[in-house]
Amino acid sequence: MMSEIVVLYEGYSINSGKDEVIANCSCTLVKGPHNIIVDTMTSWDADKILKALNQWNITSDDINIVVSTHGHSDHIGNNNLFMKAKHIVGFSISFKDKYYLHAFDKGEEYIINDSVKVIPTPGHTLSDVTVLVHSKDGETVAIAGDLFEKLEDIENPNIWLEAGSDDPVEQMKHRAKVAEMADWIIPGHGPQFKVTNRIRDLLKNQVKDTPLIKK
Ligand SMILES: [Zn+2]
Repeated sequence: MMSEIVVLYEGYSINSGKDEVIANCSCTLVKGPHNIIVDTMTSWDADKILKALNQWNITSDDINIVVSTHGHSDHIGNNNLFMKAKHIVGFSISFKDKYYLHAFDKGEEYIINDSVKVIPTPGHTLSDVTVLVHSKDGETVAIAGDLFEKLEDIENPNIWLEAGSDDPVEQMKHRAKVAEMADWIIPGHGPQFKVTNRIRDLLKNQVKDTPLIKK
């Protein structure tokens, strides 16, 4: 059984002043053998999320798995709406006080079902993950969190670097890797975009050419 992807809210980030950014993350529902919600916005967005789920006849108790691509406040704000779900926050997998050990740090992927898996893609933080979904139409969608800030950050890497990167070299490598695997990317703070061969080449060349990589 395949999975279907619904972007409940499209993320954004806008520099609004000298020391301020207005931002919220993309919040995505994956419907299928497991109902999965990826990135739960800020703590002020509970009503918005419940309302959006309601349009699909889904209650918070129908969610089986919550994934926060990393632990920043705009990606974990409403995890506690989903009390029946297993919670994956970055490299950490838990249900109530039970923690499931998984070697994301050794590169191991976490298979949720035939059409969905979670892979480690550190860089933005050292424990970022990306959700890969094989959708109904045979395409692969990467729900990437802040591995990609938005489409524009491919031409202009300063956008993702300035959004904060705990390991820019790792992030660059994982950006190129995810682009190889995906037909579409849902970035952390912008609309979904199609991955073209030009984008794949740009990302590969950034890994090769960057002065950040010590040869
Ligand atoms: Zn973010």
